[in-house]
Amino acid sequence: MKVLNVIKSSDNTKKYYFGLSDSDQFHVEACLLHLKRYGYIICVSSQIGCMQKCVFCAAGNSRFVRNLNSEEIQDQVRLIIEDNPILVSEGFQVTYMGSGEPLSNFESVFKSIDAMRTYYPTLHKVNISTTCPTTSITCFKTIDWSKYKHFLHFQYSLHFTHDNERYKFLYPQLLKITVAIDYLNSISEIVCDKYKINYILFDELNDKKENIAELKAIMDTTQNAVLKISTMSVVLSSSLTPSKNFEQFVSAAQESIEAVEVFSSDGTDVNAGCGQFYNDSIL
Ligand code: SF4
Repeated sequence: MKVLNVIKSSDNTKKYYFGLSDSDQFHVEACLLHLKRYGYIICVSSQIGCMQKCVFCAAGNSRFVRNLNSEEIQDQVRLIIEDNPILVSEGFQVTYMGSGEPLSNFESVFKSIDAMRTYYPTLHKVNISTTCPTTSITCFKTIDWSKYKHFLHFQYSLHFTHDNERYKFLYPQLLKITVAIDYLNSISEIVCDKYKINYILFDELNDKKENIAELKAIMDTTQNAVLKISTMSVVLSSSLTPSKNFEQFVSAAQESIEAVEVFSSDGTDVNAGCGQFYNDSIL
């Protein structure tokens, strides 16, 4: 894999475009964030495009090409570190939130995690963002989670409070919310971590009063989870738009739910924000 292009955003996020050794037709995207609270974060892709069709996401609105193998995932990190050697001394995290559903390609994802943990002693955390497709059951049952104590962090992309809405707007083959939460509760206990429940607010869709009560009911079934409410990044190919009710929704949620975090993506002006990967055609 080689670097094709790097674009820097106004907030210093760097968006990377990589070429593949076996194809001129497709490219892979990753980014480097530097956040006050968390330090350096490399956000990688685990697939070219995505098999899922989440309506708010550029990858979901593009075609799925294939899974990336472990070496291709590691290459994204290696090439970003070569371009930013400070990461090795300062320490960094890797987050699987670029293009692709990581648990649909979990063998390569965990192979890459194990390899990078050996190569980079200053890699101090790995974050996996997942919608919990039905295939993730195999992952949940086969991985030895005790190996990842204080190292692995999950984010569950919930976005809708009812299973049927998640099947419609994200992907039809997802685990039921109750089942996914049962697994994430057990895993978070083993890895000693509070996982996050991600909820992007879409205009007039999931930003209503009744959604707060439904979210509270879901949060009450979690152990130590934090609700992360996010603004939607602009994705031209999406039919959804960001909620106009963001502030009101957040304050109402904070009144009734104990642990609420508010988030908006960095790097959105260079399409490095959540849901923006595979959005532009520089090739
Ligand atoms: S949000 Fe994640 S799972 Fe959904 S289409 Fe985008 S990359 Fe795939």
